[in-house]
Amino acid sequence: MARNQYAVIGLGRFGTSIARRLHEAGQEVLGIDINEESVENAEPYVTDSAIADSTEEKALKSLGITNFDCVIVAIGDDIQSSILTVMLLKNLGIKKIIAKATSKRHGQVLETIGVDWVIYPERDMGERVANQLLSPNMLNY
Ligand code: ATP
Repeated sequence: MARNQYAVIGLGRFGTSIARRLHEAGQEVLGIDINEESVENAEPYVTDSAIADSTEEKALKSLGITNFDCVIVAIGDDIQSSILTVMLLKNLGIKKIIAKATSKRHGQVLETIGVDWVIYPERDMGERVANQLLSPNMLNY
């Protein structure tokens, strides 16, 4: 598999689990969070990490964000930061942006400003579990 460069912004449970899986699969992963503790916790699961505020263009540029193939914005609760970050990434010309939404309205805004893939973690996971339950033999173990 080709080695791609991913940046994960927001290292909560969601962002860290994405970073971890990509890293395990041999991909290059930069983890970014405004919170020092979150960065420290994620360090074993990323290639590089940085403490930075992703709503600051200067910070994103100094991390070389424009060199990444895909940026995942895993900030949920702070909707303003999530939207501002995505707008900056769009303006910087990032080709593939994935972002987590915590509500339908948040997701609609993210789609409007050009996020390629909006993820609704609870909704999407609920659908996945139901699909697994519906798959043949699932209840016959
Ligand atoms: P999860 O459900 O994934 O555990 P969470 O509940 O910890 O997430 P969220 O609000 O979704 O919290 O934020 C995820 C991470 O994003 C947090 O670790 C937070 O510090 C980080 N974050 C929030 N704002 C910014 C920002 N402006 N720049 C960088 N990181 C940020």
